[in-house]
Order: sequence, then structure tokens, then C-alpha cells
Amino acid sequence: MPGQYTMSIDRAVEVARETEKLGVGGLLLFGLPAEKDEVGSDAYSEDGIIQEALRALRQNVKDLLLITDICLCEYTSHGHCGVIRHKAVDNDATLPLLADAAVSHVRAGADMVAPSDMMDGRVAAIRGALDREGFSNTPIMAYSAKYASAFYGPFREAANSAPEFGDRRGYQMDPPNAREALREIATDIQEGADIVMVKPAMAYLDIIARARRMFNTPLAAYQVSGEYAMIEAAARNGWIDRERTILESTTAIARAGADIIITYYAQELARSL
Ligand SMILES: [Zn+2]
Repeated sequence: MPGQYTMSIDRAVEVARETEKLGVGGLLLFGLPAEKDEVGSDAYSEDGIIQEALRALRQNVKDLLLITDICLCEYTSHGHCGVIRHKAVDNDATLPLLADAAVSHVRAGADMVAPSDMMDGRVAAIRGALDREGFSNTPIMAYSAKYASAFYGPFREAANSAPEFGDRRGYQMDPPNAREALREIATDIQEGADIVMVKPAMAYLDIIARARRMFNTPLAAYQVSGEYAMIEAAARNGWIDRERTILESTTAIARAGADIIITYYAQELARSL
């Protein structure tokens, strides 16, 4: 995507310092390992890319919240969010690996973990593992209502994480289904999520608004890569006013009820606001 880069650790440290100075609340980190394998080993390895990055970042930023994405799809050779058995994702066999990833990230310096995999029972599995390891104060931001969306396209290309067979509709949510989102959010809160999330944002503002009315748990919304890409492409063509569109799109997410906005525009907004 124009203006977005995968980074080496030293560059990530520079960006984190700058972001902290701008007063942005936190960084959400996604790992892109040198080697991918069937079980996504780099996600929970002590010397995985995220663990190494966290140790470097932790030495350089104090106030910036370091949040890590917890999933296997960036780390698996097949691009699915869990381990595969009989050509399908094995939900229950994936849970301990996600829990291991969360524990190893927190050990390396993460302030909060953000499971994005949509496996059933993963918030409880991660909460239990963190508590057992003495990290009972570390919060979980759960991607609770994550729709199987076309808007994820640019990110997947950047992370080289498009599934090599099938798709993610077995574990991500069906776009026409609104009530299931509320059930998923309720389940995650029950399992111990401290923040719940709706993703993507713009095409799901109704879900954000419904979640806001129904739950008191802090609510995050993720303005995803496809939303960013549409704004950038249209602005480059001279079809829209880029700055106004950025502000209006994020204002809409806040107006719908999100307490936290995850956006590629965080630095830019912090500067202009
Ligand atoms: Zn995933």
C-alpha cells in the first residue's frame, strides 16, 4: 500500500519513538517471519520476530502501549489462522499455540495482546495461560466481531498471508449477520476480554453502534487496509479531498461508539489534531 511499509526492527524502533512523541496511545504489532511453517512456530518462539522487536522497543519507549497481534496466519506456510488437520483448521489444537504466543509476547515486553484468529475459546485459553504465568494484569483486546471481509486484501498481500487453499469463512463472520456479532462479543467478554473489537470499521458502523448500546466494555474498531487503500487511491486520482476524508471516516467510527480507533492514519491524525 502506498505509504505503508514492513519494517526491520531498527526502523520500527524509530517509528515507535516518533509515535510516542506524537501522543498516540499505542502500537499494534504484526510479525512477518523470515520462515513460515505448518504450525506457525515463529509466533511463539522466544527469538521470533515479534519477541525480538518487543525487547528492542521496550528499551526505547515508555508511554507507548505495545500491543501484539495474536494469530498464526502470518506465520503459517498455508496462511490459515490455525493448525490444519484434514484440510481444515483444527480449532482446539490451535488454542494452546495461541496461548503460547501470548505468553511469549508478554514475557518479551508486550503490554497487551490482541487475538485476531477468531478460534472459539481463545480468549479463555489466553487468559488462563497469562494468569498461570503471573501476567494476570495484562489485558486482552479481542477481535470479537471480525467479519470475513474483502477489505483485508491489501494487508494480506503485504503479509503474504492469504490462505493457500479455502478461505477464512469457517471462523470469521458472515457479513449479513449482525446478531452473531453481538453473541461473539458477549462470549469474549465472558471469557475475559478487557477490550472488544469490531473489524472492519466503515462497512460495519451499525455493528459498532449496536455493540456500544449493548456492552460497557471498552470498544475498539479497526479501520483496515482496504479502507485505507480506497481513500488513498481516490485521493491520488483527485476524486476526493484526502485530509477531509480521513477525518470524516475516523469521526464516523468514533460517532458510532468506538472508544479506540486502530488506523493507519494514527500518526497523521495526531499531528493534525
Ligand atoms: Zn489470522
